[in-house]
Formats: sequence, structure tokens, C-alpha cells
Amino acid sequence: MPALEAIIGLEVHAQMSTKTKMFCACDNDAWNRAPNTTVCPVCMGHPGTLPVPNAEAVAKAVKASLAIGCTVATQCHFDRKHYFYPDLPAGYQISQYDFPLAKAGAVTFDVLENSGRVREEKTCRITRLHMENDAGKLTHRGTTTLCDYNRAGTPLMEIVTEPDLRSAEEAVAFAQELRRILIAVDASDADMFKGMMRFDASISLRATGTNALNPRSEIKNLNSFKALEKALIYEEKRLRNLWEETGGPLKGNITVGWQDDEEKTRMLRDKEDAQDYRYFPEPDIPPLAFTEVDIEKVRSTLPMLPRAKRAHYVSLGLDDAQAFQLTDDAALRRLFDAVYEKTKNGKRTSGLILTQLLGFLKAENKTIADAPSPEAMLELIAAIDTGTISANAGKDVLLLMVQTGKSADAIIEEKGMQQIADTDTLSKLVADAIAQNPGPIADFKAGKQAALGSLVGWIMKESKGQADPRKVNELLRKQLT
Ligand code: ZN
Ligand code: MN
Repeated sequence: MPALEAIIGLEVHAQMSTKTKMFCACDNDAWNRAPNTTVCPVCMGHPGTLPVPNAEAVAKAVKASLAIGCTVATQCHFDRKHYFYPDLPAGYQISQYDFPLAKAGAVTFDVLENSGRVREEKTCRITRLHMENDAGKLTHRGTTTLCDYNRAGTPLMEIVTEPDLRSAEEAVAFAQELRRILIAVDASDADMFKGMMRFDASISLRATGTNALNPRSEIKNLNSFKALEKALIYEEKRLRNLWEETGGPLKGNITVGWQDDEEKTRMLRDKEDAQDYRYFPEPDIPPLAFTEVDIEKVRSTLPMLPRAKRAHYVSLGLDDAQAFQLTDDAALRRLFDAVYEKTKNGKRTSGLILTQLLGFLKAENKTIADAPSPEAMLELIAAIDTGTISANAGKDVLLLMVQTGKSADAIIEEKGMQQIADTDTLSKLVADAIAQNPGPIADFKAGKQAALGSLVGWIMKESKGQADPRKVNELLRKQLT
């Protein structure tokens, strides 16, 4: 048996984060709403109603297309895709068939080691991105099926990749990067828990080093990264066993469904019966047209994309895992960026935000939503940088900020934590230290520089940590030499 490699491609459906649905004015946020309460005659497919494309959805889809490197078509249109299913009230989906919104892109993504370090960089080409509306949701209970059409008409982007992925690991890494991009350009909230991003994955095997594209197994219905990973691992193993038994690849395309509870795929259709969706151009919606100027205008609004952002954080001295941590958490990133803007010191900022602050939040069972605001963090930094408190006392202040929600200045005032920096008070402390520590004094005079440290330590203890250690050092040296 030859060495085999897996050839994987994905179809991704991502819900767009718009106020209203794709072709009507219904609220697009149907999460946790009573069934069939965000519906109207348009999204219920009543005869005689007219769909009107949502300009916000089109704008977001264009932005997403550019962010994944696609060329946006200056002309495209919607098509009707017919099939009968009770979750599809009109009897057809309004989608895009032969003239999609965008084509021929590419997404570069990082494959990580277990340690969180970047192992390698890969690129997956994007075949197309098109817009369509979602169907409703069916819930099967015994012999009864409940229909909820709140989701019917929700705007979707369907993103199709070339078969450029070679393992479940790569497929997941790509899908996660795609999710980050869609969030970064504000095209989708891509909340996996709410089913806002769903995958179908195609997988086939071939002898390593050949260019064959053998019949593939298409796995439907993957609603999480875990499901995507497990299903591809499972199906690859199954196809390898089949190859071993039959001496070759599948004889024809098949469609399987992922059974999340059993962690298995199940055959849905064998030998893909060329499905006839009877596509034809949607007669109720005029074609969409964009000028190159329109498209370039949108391109100029693209934010820095996640990968470039990670490279930026790494250039500040952060490691890969920290760079991912920041790009994946907008609230954390805002804090970090605000503090970095002030300190211009990557290590200090990551120490303060990623180590101290996150540590305190965790210890207090709080989340980033409970963290001090960027302004509050800057107040703390100002107190440290002007010498009001030491960096060490800053840690205690930060913990109190997390615990109480009070400002740094209020805590410092209330607890009397101001650093002692006036020479009179410090000189008295130094005199006490010299009087009460004859041992270390003798050591220091005998040439042991380290003895000075124990004197500074004594003074810091005596002053409850409030003496300015730099000044104490200075005064001690003056007294002893
Ligand atoms: Zn509606
Ligand atoms: Mn679709």
C-alpha cells in the first residue's frame, strides 16, 4: 500500500452581524427569543412579498471578501436554489450560483505546537464567497417536529476553500484563523456556541506525491472546531481502512453526517445523485454592481488583520501564545494597547496586564469584563512612574483595584501607601538602620558590598515597604563611605 495523504477542503457558513435579516426588516438577533417571533411575510416566504437586499449585509460580505484576499466582482446577482424541506418556507433559498460576490482569495494561517509556539505557516486558497439566507430550525421530539423560523432569512456568507488542507489539525487552524478575520472586520460575531459558524468538510485520500483528486466524502453538519477535528480524524481513518480493504479510493462521492453523540460519521447519500436545485436568477432582485472605486474604498477601511497584529505583538517582545491571547480577546487587547501606548515597553505591559492583572482576575474568580478600565490602569501607571508608589506597591494597588473596583489614587490615599521620599524621614530611618545593625555594617566596611542589601531590606521592612529604595541606597552609601 502506498503512503497516503488526506486532501481536505471546507465550506464555511458564517452568520453576518447585521441589525436586520438578509431580505427583510426582521430583527437578526433571534438568540433565545420565543419561537416564530422574529418573522414576517418576507422571511416566511409568503407569495407576493418582495425581498430587498440588506445593504449592511452586502457591505460586510464585501469587507470579508477583501480580508480573505478575494477579488470582488463588479457585477453579481442572486439565484434561487430550490429544494423542499420544512425549514425552508419559500421552497427555495436565495443564494448566489454562477456569479458569486467574490472569488480567488487565500488565507495564510499558523499551525501551532502544543506549547502554543508557531510550528509552521500554511496558506489555503479560497474558491469563492457568496451571500445567501439561512433556513429555519427544526426540533425533533419523538414523532413530532417543531419548526422555528426565527433564523429563516438570517444573512449568511458561504466561504468555499480549495482542497489545500492536509490534516484535521490544519483544517481547524485554518477555520480558527478565518473566524478571527471575520470578527476583526466585524462581518460576523462568529459565536460558535450560538451556531454562527458552521462547517462542511470534504476529504479524500491519494498516494502521497501524486496530484490525483479522488472521489471525496463530504461531512455535513459540523458546528464546532472540536466536531470539525474529530470528524476529520474519524473519516480519514475510515477512508484509510477502506483503501486497505479495497485497494483504492472511494468509487464515487459520498455524503456523510457527523453524529456528535456517537463521535461517528453516518452515510447520508452514496454516489452523489447530481442534485438538481434548478438554479435560476432571482427575478425579484436586480443584479448588484460595484465600481472599482467602491471596492477600493471598502479596502481602505480594512483594519490590521489578526496575523499582522500577532506579528506586531511578537515584535514588542511577546511570545506567540501571548500574541494569540491578545488578538483573540478584544477587551484584553484594548487594555494592553492603552497601557503600551503610555509605557512603550512591551515586557512591562505584558507583565502588568497578562501576568499581574490576569492572575488577580483569576484568583478573584473574575473575568476581563471586571477588569479596571484602560484609564484606571493608566492612573496606576502614572502613580508608579511619578514615584508616588513603588512598582512593588503597584502590585498591591492593582489587586485592590480588582477586588474593590476603586481607583488607584483612591486606594493609595486610603491606605496611606505613598512612598516615603523626603530626605529627613529617610535619613532618620538610615540612622536607625546603622545603629541597630552592627553586623552588616562591619561586613560592608570589610568590603562586602552585598551587606548593603540587608540594610536596605531592614529599612523597607521598617517602613512597611514605603521607603523609596533608590533614595535609601543613595543615603546609606553616603553615610557609610
Ligand atoms: Zn422577516
Ligand atoms: Mn450554503
